[in-house]
Amino acid sequence: MTNRPRSLAAGVTAGLLLVGTPALAGAVTPPTSTEPSPALDPAAGTRAATPTRRPTTKVPTMTGAGGAVSSVDETATAVGIDVLRRGGNAVDAAVATAATLGVTEPFSSGIGGGGFFVYYDAASGRVHTIDGRETAPRAFTPTTLTDGAGKALEFDEVVSSGLSVGVPGTPATWDAAVSAWGTRSLGSLLAPAEKVARRGFTVDAYYRSHTASNAKRFAMFPDTAELFLPGGAPPAVGSTFRNPDLARTYRQIARHGVDVMYRGRIGKDVVAAATRPRTAPGLTVRSSPMTPADVAAYRVRRPAPVVAAYRDLQIVGMGVPSSGGIAVGEILGLMEAYAARTKVSTAAATPVDHLHRFAEASATAFADRNRWVGHVPGVPTRELLSRGFLGERACGFDPAKAAARPVPFGTPDGDYGACPASAGTTGAGREGTSTTHLNVADRWGNVVSYTLTIEQTGGSGITVPGRGFLLNNELTDFDFVPVTAGVPDPNLPGPGKRPRSSMSPTIVLRDGRPVLTVGTPGGATIITTVSQILLGTLDRGMPLVDAIAAPRISSRNTGATAEKTFLATPEAAALAAKGHRLDPVDQIGNASGIRLLPGRRFEAAAETTRGGGGSAMVVRADRNR
Ligand code: GLU
Repeated sequence: MTNRPRSLAAGVTAGLLLVGTPALAGAVTPPTSTEPSPALDPAAGTRAATPTRRPTTKVPTMTGAGGAVSSVDETATAVGIDVLRRGGNAVDAAVATAATLGVTEPFSSGIGGGGFFVYYDAASGRVHTIDGRETAPRAFTPTTLTDGAGKALEFDEVVSSGLSVGVPGTPATWDAAVSAWGTRSLGSLLAPAEKVARRGFTVDAYYRSHTASNAKRFAMFPDTAELFLPGGAPPAVGSTFRNPDLARTYRQIARHGVDVMYRGRIGKDVVAAATRPRTAPGLTVRSSPMTPADVAAYRVRRPAPVVAAYRDLQIVGMGVPSSGGIAVGEILGLMEAYAARTKVSTAAATPVDHLHRFAEASATAFADRNRWVGHVPGVPTRELLSRGFLGERACGFDPAKAAARPVPFGTPDGDYGACPASAGTTGAGREGTSTTHLNVADRWGNVVSYTLTIEQTGGSGITVPGRGFLLNNELTDFDFVPVTAGVPDPNLPGPGKRPRSSMSPTIVLRDGRPVLTVGTPGGATIITTVSQILLGTLDRGMPLVDAIAAPRISSRNTGATAEKTFLATPEAAALAAKGHRLDPVDQIGNASGIRLLPGRRFEAAAETTRGGGGSAMVVRADRNR
């Protein structure tokens, strides 16, 4: 999951948010809530060194006008709101928010990683996407992640090594988004994040605990240890964490553009760090075959969005190499097909029946996703979301009991009829559980849904020396070897290939206009979490913040989990009686979203408690909250 500092060092907060911004200060200061501001590190040179209680701006939901931002982190959300308040649009605010998350959430995202940017453009009424996924070096082959004799390399060994590092796509994503649709320069949008990196933010328990859980890995790489384990240990709660190297890197990108990353000195340093990772004495790790030419060849892709019809809505998401848009669309499509078969709508189903349907739909969608979706030509996206295919896939649905797992995959061949004979089954490789998501909606009606990652919490563990950011381990999202013998695997490594993702930044349209945006981290559970939230708010009448807070289940065909809070409910026992086996986990996802209300008003929402709670803000909050 993501880890987040709770609050900025006070001097930065003042500069960004509170001084001379009466409208914003009013908007982001809830009337009653306060949180203690920890003592600041005097060595950090920030102004307010006295511990005080200051009003928090961190609330999980806020309704109002002028634009909205939601993310896991208060500082990043506030930076986005400030951009909107000063007249920037949703794309501007999304890039500034993401850049700030790269500072305050360095273990979940940053310029050493990649992501998927989905943008609704109000002027044209069109949705655009940017595929900023990390890419394998051209020397990669389908057997690169094996020992040469057909055996998969040890997963954990690959994670913390240069071999897992894909060419980063995040700087190129920001550049592409701002050049195409922004109204500000990339440099000016990096400035608030640069300031946070330079002045520092206050370490909270989450940041510390995520550092601590990575401490062993970070100690393998002296440059990472030096940055993230100052004095050899995770920083104390309440101390100020500064990252002057990252501040300098942001300044260089601001001044020279992203070419310094792809064709310049920072890119050279990325290649050096991936190909010759500096390790602690006596330790060696695998290295990447990445070359400067691989980095220079990096391009974002602009695939058409995946659009799934659901009731009177269009669910718009990310296409290949993400499986998110397809799988979320299939889950919802199957829910509609079950409603048609049973003549009981998703809205009217009992809570248990609803969850049973959801688990069956999820397992079925994962069966198809694992078989058909990857960064390969000819993914049958349209067929997988067609009414014919969905009807056929729903034909075995039994309201009384769970289908045997693993559910076989279907055949999206355009020829659909009665329940077909089982086509075979396949599983999925491992995916991490880190990443971060943000949403922005502006006063002109533009909307951004953006999920970005460095894969595992802490990525590869390798910090680019002197540059202040971690490199991703995204290439471990490839299947190291074919998952099922005899079944084609679309997610094997290859030259210049992008690993399959589950990231599901989603925008929901009604009559072509946005009504909702949502997303989350969580590896493969992203798909089920986004679907569960969409169903909760679109069908089950839940306010967005409640749909986000609801206990989660994730039935993924070859694996199924539920939060312990869910397993304590009566619904859990009823699902077990239907044959659902759900393994307990503490937490699934860390979601956020925005509902677009009539009259250009917004309901921003984030987690209430997961990960310590997220941060939802609007530019002008309703007074009667
Ligand atoms: N690497 C994963 C993916 O692209 C995301 C990791 C996560 O969300 O934790 O699907």
